[in-house]
Amino acid sequence: MTAVLIRGAAPYGEEPLDLLLSGGVIVATGAAASTDPLAADAEIVDGAGLVVLPGLVDLHTHLREPGREDAETVASGSAAAALGGYTAVFAMPNTDPTADTAGVVEQVFRLGRDVGLVDVFPIGAVTVGRKGERLAELAAMATSAARVRVFSDDGDCVSDALLMRRALEYVKAFDGVIAQHAQEPRLTQGAQMHEGEVSARLGLTGWPAVAEEAIIARDCLLTDHVGSRLHVCHLSTAGSVEVVAAAKKRGTIVTAEVTPHHLLLTDERAVGYDPVFKVNPPLRTAADVAALRQALADGVIDIVATDHAPHASQDKETEWDNASPGMLGLQTALSVVIATMLQPGLLDWRGVARVMSEAPARIGGLTDHGRPVAVGEPANLVLIDPTASWTVSGDALASLSSNTPFEGMELPGRVVATYLRGRCTAAAGVPAGS
Ligand SMILES: [Zn+2]
Repeated sequence: MTAVLIRGAAPYGEEPLDLLLSGGVIVATGAAASTDPLAADAEIVDGAGLVVLPGLVDLHTHLREPGREDAETVASGSAAAALGGYTAVFAMPNTDPTADTAGVVEQVFRLGRDVGLVDVFPIGAVTVGRKGERLAELAAMATSAARVRVFSDDGDCVSDALLMRRALEYVKAFDGVIAQHAQEPRLTQGAQMHEGEVSARLGLTGWPAVAEEAIIARDCLLTDHVGSRLHVCHLSTAGSVEVVAAAKKRGTIVTAEVTPHHLLLTDERAVGYDPVFKVNPPLRTAADVAALRQALADGVIDIVATDHAPHASQDKETEWDNASPGMLGLQTALSVVIATMLQPGLLDWRGVARVMSEAPARIGGLTDHGRPVAVGEPANLVLIDPTASWTVSGDALASLSSNTPFEGMELPGRVVATYLRGRCTAAAGVPAGS
């Protein structure tokens, strides 16, 4: 593989410099990059005007394989990830069969490695079949070739307090983390959207904020009691922000994520009953959106995770009540973060790198992603044109599904190229190998 010389790109939007990539790492920067002997026959990439960040890391992706290859595959999801600037994604276990054994997580891990566009790290189910009845073989998944460190029943909440306690205790042995989909099931039976003024107007069954907040509060207390590590998936309400802030203040080892759609869209989108806006947890109010943005800026919320949830058209393009909840996210996440956080001045590029790369890598236990743009570090990078904008079209996305809630929206910032260990995985909107 030849070396790559990126000329004049700006790490974290700061001083532009040259970067020389070879052997999977950044071997030289600045003046030393062009004078290095490896630069002589390097492929030259013009980075003028571009921002370079460490490759993005998504802690919450649904790749649908095995089982729903009509909605997404590891290959199509990996292409979407590379095009979105990601070099690593964590794949949720709500597949068919469930990723609750060493065999299934190894299968997903190998599929990701064979595609080679992004590092795929399987998340293991907490309970057998995600049924919430008995613990899955967490240690077997942790010691498998996939080296699972994140466990979740995402899609469903581990609502049984004793099971949650046992899971938190169990993963301590290998520094694992339980990623909880916080949803009190009894409080959300039949829920269709956020419980509030809009749901009352539309006559749809409400999903009250307290159903999320109560579980997060309980789990923070359990985590304290056990001395373990908790991650809160897709935190969506202002009240949840308060609960996590209080827990962090008293020393709970808890991290939290927010999705791009919860940073941009509100429950008003449900007016019109277009099921593309149906998601779980649901879109909340403008006050919640403001609180989530501020919490991400303040560090109460640690990361942005996409909850990329492809659905085949027969599951999504149906009446609201029967539609599957979920939205695409991998190819739009960075642009939404630029629009909601960078442009309003809530985060700078260092902050974007922190919430979309460094912190998710750390929470997921990765040591070769989310690293600084510096000599000797893995060449996992994304080149971004911060001045470009683009109009989202679900049909044009690499995902096999097209359920983007940002259809027709003009979003700022474009991924120009993504590099995984020095190899270009996507450039100019085209994934490598296609
Ligand atoms: Zn979830």
